[in-house]
Amino acid sequence: MSRPAYTPPAYRRVLIKLSGEVLMGDQQFGIDPGFVAQMAQEVKDAKETGLEICLVIGGGNIFRGMAGAAKGMDRAQADYMGMLATVMNALAMQNALEQLGVATRVQSAIEMDKVCEPVIRRRAERHLEKGRVVIFAAGVGAPYFTTDSGAALRAAEMRCDALLKGTSVDGVYDSDPKRNPAAKRFETVSYDTVLAENLKVMDASAVALCRDNNIPIVVFSIRERGNLARVLVGEGTQTTVQQEA
Ligand code: UDP
Repeated sequence: MSRPAYTPPAYRRVLIKLSGEVLMGDQQFGIDPGFVAQMAQEVKDAKETGLEICLVIGGGNIFRGMAGAAKGMDRAQADYMGMLATVMNALAMQNALEQLGVATRVQSAIEMDKVCEPVIRRRAERHLEKGRVVIFAAGVGAPYFTTDSGAALRAAEMRCDALLKGTSVDGVYDSDPKRNPAAKRFETVSYDTVLAENLKVMDASAVALCRDNNIPIVVFSIRERGNLARVLVGEGTQTTVQQEA
């Protein structure tokens, strides 16, 4: 009988972070509804394993503050535009999930009461208890941060058992696998190694917040169909960032 390579602890509640880029599919920019539907299906499959799910989606497919600042914009102003981009992505994902019959609520760190709720932790708890997916938008609600930090913050305050980071790479490598064919993927790696060696997982403030609150970060490829649900049962390919054994 073949055994899975890695058996994850039984998660009850997880936070899934998807970068905005996964919503643009093969486009250079924006939202491709077909890809959003595909991502929504992945989230639905994960939810059907019995988990409570919080979701954070980036905004890089629409606007990144750093890119605006590089072209001469005021950084804080550009970051607020980036945060608004994450709200658009959250609404697109809400639409796609609800078309699949998954109940959702969007809570934004920048209040926008015509389109979504503000972030209210106890209300989010109630949504999760009722089986709704809660999509947290606008990151931490402040410039000079990213949605990775937003994801780490919500994972901590919602007491999630893990932060699952879906990217286009299937884990954390010791060097860039796109440039170095001999790059080695870690099965597990410590927070401190990630920070000391500047490995590309999430930005340092997000990794440190997860470390200080002992939240494992599971890095996996969201581009492979069905991978999220496989990762959750220990059969997918991923790297887990955790405390040193
Ligand atoms: N942003 C911000 N504060 C936050 C979260 C996001 O200022 O708490 C801005 C920032 O400009 C960022 C943009 O929103 O570049 C989009 O988010 P991010 O780059 O994290 O998106 P991703 O790379 O995950 O698609």
